[in-house]
Amino acid sequence: MKEKRIKKIIIVGGGTAGYMAAAALTKVLSKQNCEVKLIESEQIGTVGVGEATIPQIQLYNKLLGLDEDDFVRRTKATFKLAIQFKDWDKIGHSYYHAFGDVGKDMEGVQFYHYWLKMRQLGKAGDIDDYTLTSTACNQQKFMRSIDAGNSPLSNIAYAFHFDAGLYAIYLRELAEKSGLIRLEGKVIETQLNEQGFVQSVQLENGDIHAADFFIDCSGFRGLLIEQALKTGYDDWTHWLPCDSAVTVPCESAGEPWPFTRSTAQKAGWQWRIPLQHRIGNGHVYSSKFMSDEEAKQILLDNLDGKPLGEPRIIRFTTGKRKKFWNKNVLALGLSAGFMEPLESTSIHLVQAALSKLFTFFPTLSFDQVDIDEYNRQSSFEWERIRDFLIVHYHTTKRDDSPFWDYCRTMDIPPELQQKIAQFKKNGRVARIDSEMFNELSWFEVMYGQGLHPESYHALVDNFPEDLLERRLESIRNVMINSVDYMPTHQEFINQHCKSE
Ligand code: FAD
Repeated sequence: MKEKRIKKIIIVGGGTAGYMAAAALTKVLSKQNCEVKLIESEQIGTVGVGEATIPQIQLYNKLLGLDEDDFVRRTKATFKLAIQFKDWDKIGHSYYHAFGDVGKDMEGVQFYHYWLKMRQLGKAGDIDDYTLTSTACNQQKFMRSIDAGNSPLSNIAYAFHFDAGLYAIYLRELAEKSGLIRLEGKVIETQLNEQGFVQSVQLENGDIHAADFFIDCSGFRGLLIEQALKTGYDDWTHWLPCDSAVTVPCESAGEPWPFTRSTAQKAGWQWRIPLQHRIGNGHVYSSKFMSDEEAKQILLDNLDGKPLGEPRIIRFTTGKRKKFWNKNVLALGLSAGFMEPLESTSIHLVQAALSKLFTFFPTLSFDQVDIDEYNRQSSFEWERIRDFLIVHYHTTKRDDSPFWDYCRTMDIPPELQQKIAQFKKNGRVARIDSEMFNELSWFEVMYGQGLHPESYHALVDNFPEDLLERRLESIRNVMINSVDYMPTHQEFINQHCKSE
């Protein structure tokens, strides 16, 4: 067995994906006597965006043993409790996709079903009133969980907004401390062996670097997975029609919000990601429906502060590689595919891929059964996230532009049709196996998008209405009192993790 161990790994690319892989691999393989090398080209640079995350990133941070305050300080990060979707269902309407619990489940039935019944009867407030993180967002409050028994303060779900460039530097330092060999240079050629496996890569200066296993983190170009191995790409543009983004940071405007804002525009949407030192902004749009000039103007017209630099355009094709792992090459990050940043899932997909890689970590025999299973699980994960993104577009009521007309009337995947039909009927969400977004996320987004179920879970009627009314009132009060107890987001940062 020992002779079959992987002894050399090369990561091509030093963006977020490359350094996430490098930090995790050097940590996990530290006792395996396995060399991990990363090759990056400063001349080519990184995509330089990707600043909003979801709570699962805490698992990755735990694996690395990060000190969270240090990480927040070094990456000039802020905390994120939700995404606010503005003008998505119709202009003038907004809702939160908030992290964590909604209300309190009773008798095995999720809280939102009780809320649906009482809302239909006109006896319940807005869903935000029963959700700790949404209430905190409305008041710009934040804190981490404390030991508070049954209180929602014991279980506060959060993620981060951080500076992508600083994040890569931070991870690079960690990885180098754990033994990463980093090389600067441009890969200009890839050599394959007789079985079609990648044997080595050649740099512009003529040096050749060989390895047993390669991780392609070269971004959209997919240097190894596509250019060398011709793996193929599933194009999802017909479901996720945005193919461009124009981005520009701007000066901060007041205290940072503890949430990302996504505002729907005429042919796409605009993000607003508050950091400690600036706000990250971008306008994601479909070039079929809008010119670059118009997209740029919309972005600049909707900034909260003075732009810091010139707007930059990034092109992409939504979709994924036909195989994420092909022979001895694993694609990570943008080289694996891209589904657009609407729900901040790309960095999570890097982390999820690394976790699966550790589960199916290969030997030199590269067992095809493991590779096939890795690809099956990854495709499932991507397709379910894809459907979650599509639902935001497809369920809109907007009819003010050809883009929204297209989205509203486009065909959607059958699994999503089924999910929407079931939700409309009785509010149930059938989470497919262990798909990443849970029932609450689907509920918040579908309801927020204006899909209001005809009915609710049958067991809700076990409770008399007056009892439900009292329970809802008590939950609402618990949320008010809990959020009263929380410091403001800015106060929390000042106290624990303010950057220089
Ligand atoms: P890149 O950053 O492009 O890095 C590629 C690396 O490969 C670079 O170091 C480059 O120098 C190197 N390279 C390329 N060719 C060669 C060569 N020939 N030789 C040597 N080196 C080479 N994700 C989120 O989770 N949240 C978000 O909010 C979010 N927003 C996004 C917004 C937009 C508009 C886009 C496009 C993406 C967004 N993402 C987001 C995705 C996120 O940016 C990426 O998942 C993440 O940055 C990983 O990128 P990467 O490392 O794969 O690629």
